[in-house]
Amino acid sequence: MRHSSFLEINLSLLGENVQSIKKLAPRAELIPMVKANAYGNGLIPISQHMVREHGVKKLGCASLGEALAVFEESPDLDVEMLVFSDSEMQNPKLRQAYAEMKITPVIHQPADLEVILSNPEFKRVPLVIKLNTGMNRLGFSWEELEPFVPRLKSRGIEHLLTHFACSYFILKEGDKTHRQMDEFRRIQKNLKDAGVEVRTTSVSNSGAIEQKFGVDETYIRPGLMLYGPPAVLEPQIWFGKQSSRLMTKVMKTFHAKKGTPIGYGINVLPHDAFLAIIPIGYGDGLVTFASGLELNIKGLKAKLFARINMDMAFLMFDPSAEGKIKVEDQIEIWNNDNRVITDIATQMKTIPYQVMCAISHRIPRIYKVK
Ligand SMILES: *Cc1c(COP(=O)(O)O)cnc(C)c1O
Repeated sequence: MRHSSFLEINLSLLGENVQSIKKLAPRAELIPMVKANAYGNGLIPISQHMVREHGVKKLGCASLGEALAVFEESPDLDVEMLVFSDSEMQNPKLRQAYAEMKITPVIHQPADLEVILSNPEFKRVPLVIKLNTGMNRLGFSWEELEPFVPRLKSRGIEHLLTHFACSYFILKEGDKTHRQMDEFRRIQKNLKDAGVEVRTTSVSNSGAIEQKFGVDETYIRPGLMLYGPPAVLEPQIWFGKQSSRLMTKVMKTFHAKKGTPIGYGINVLPHDAFLAIIPIGYGDGLVTFASGLELNIKGLKAKLFARINMDMAFLMFDPSAEGKIKVEDQIEIWNNDNRVITDIATQMKTIPYQVMCAISHRIPRIYKVK
């Protein structure tokens, strides 16, 4: 619903990230995470690309609705969708999807496991079980899982997994991530000792993969790093290609003197300035707290000045920018260098995950291959 403000997604760069990730985890199979509209990159095109170009067999999403959307748009896509959290397992109507389609719930609490085990229509659903090893959000403790052991013996667990809370910190012996891994191994061993077969495992999200931790399990589950940004920031060790570029244009320019109030409220210019209005605002996902953001635009220093509006925002330049910044010029908010979006997120006191997920439906996604 915009034309000149758009998110350009370079599928070739995404492919380069896939290759780099495979080098970090040569023995693991990829389960790319495509939740939240593939981190803003577009659920359907990214899912199709991962399956068709990279031979991926499983994709991870957060909600049943996301999995259904993939098959609605792409019924022939040969993939298994894993639903990691909002599985709707307690909804008798919705959960029928698991019996009928290639969608698998990640079972993360006893009531949901009970549903799977006690309803014959779910007999063929692979058991994918998430353990709580210290994040304390979703997943089974050993105490919660143990009572199911007699019924798990014949069926076995297809995929046992856990999720790390702190893998975006540089790993140290004995830290939280290591303790989570130890707890995972302990429960895995308990299952083995009890005679429950565990066929495959996974533990690693981006922060862990970047540090080659947990990459010898059957699968890895990269999200953020696949789309470019690093999870580990101090120091940055992942220099993936940012798959998206957020583009807009200069819609109007004008000079204004120091002290001039600009836009809604009372935001007066701290010095004489050359201003550019860009057609992107919080209705597009450029959230209000992006105000104050310092950007490099066409090699010039610029700042998002005053309040960000629903439909537009102000870029403040030095008065000498006149002639260099012209109406209809294309503007890059972030580009394919993953340090730019990282810097933007840091300035906004948030994380690149949120900056990317925020980009709304009004911004068309334009796909290109190099
Ligand atoms: C989102 C998610 C991931 C991916 O996390 P990133 O930090 O984006 O790599 C992996 N596993 C699970 C269970 C998730 O929910």
